[in-house]
Amino acid sequence: MKMLVYFNGKFISHEEIKVSPFDRAFLFSDSVYEALRTYNGKFFRLDDHLKRLKFSLKELDITFNDFDRIGEICGNLSDINSIKPDYTVYLQISRGVSFPRTHHYEDNLTPNVFAYVKLIKDNSKEINDGVKVILEKDLRWLRCDIKSTSLLPAVMANQKAFNSSAYEAVLYRDDFITEGSHTNFFAVKNNKVFTAPLSNYILDGITRKNVLELCKENKIDFVEDYIKAKDFKKFDEFFITGTTTEVTPVVQIDDWIVGDGKPGSITCKIQELFFKALR
Ligand code: PLP
Repeated sequence: MKMLVYFNGKFISHEEIKVSPFDRAFLFSDSVYEALRTYNGKFFRLDDHLKRLKFSLKELDITFNDFDRIGEICGNLSDINSIKPDYTVYLQISRGVSFPRTHHYEDNLTPNVFAYVKLIKDNSKEINDGVKVILEKDLRWLRCDIKSTSLLPAVMANQKAFNSSAYEAVLYRDDFITEGSHTNFFAVKNNKVFTAPLSNYILDGITRKNVLELCKENKIDFVEDYIKAKDFKKFDEFFITGTTTEVTPVVQIDDWIVGDGKPGSITCKIQELFFKALR
């Protein structure tokens, strides 16, 4: 199927895109990205995604100012590809092309801006039944708060999960659980929700933020505190969150079945609140 994608101001066939290998994204993973989605044709928390994109660009000192057009570009992509009403958008901004290759960069390179849309995959089975995750050592760098495309440790961990028929690899640094390879991680004990605090060790997930807001509004007890990897069996329930993962229960960690192997009651309550707020 031919798909039109956005590349530097143009909508062109995905087969026609040409990027120089001197693009610093290719040489150094010198680029940032966002993954957005719609519900009923409207973006889910677009402003939060733009805010995080600005933060990532600022931290890496990449100059890009065209934020106002992002919503329109993504909408146009969905229209011209007739992917409706709901879709995900992958958006990537690299620092740009520079020759010859040097670690340091020149000022005012022209970023390469790329976006494409995809139909949303049906995740109702995962949402209803829950998923298996594996625990893996967090081998990522110390700026996981920047959404950069430098993702090899996450790729390696997620591949291990895939090879073990698990949905996600949940990562621990020293003895503390940080987050998943592409999700935030939550645990529940005695009806209290735990998730790692915001820091350079995790991504400030937009779904994570939404879940914590819902907990606050609905008087569900929560704390932003680490869970020790060696203590995970002391918790009653787990779930992971993300833009496409939404709120997905975790019912198995490695070979250990959580509780009765079904999504827990607090997890189900949070899921219900999450989907109700979207309607
Ligand atoms: N943590 C990591 C490492 C991620 O890559 C992602 C999403 O891509 C998330 C958490 C979830 O973030 P969000 O809810 O904004 O999609």
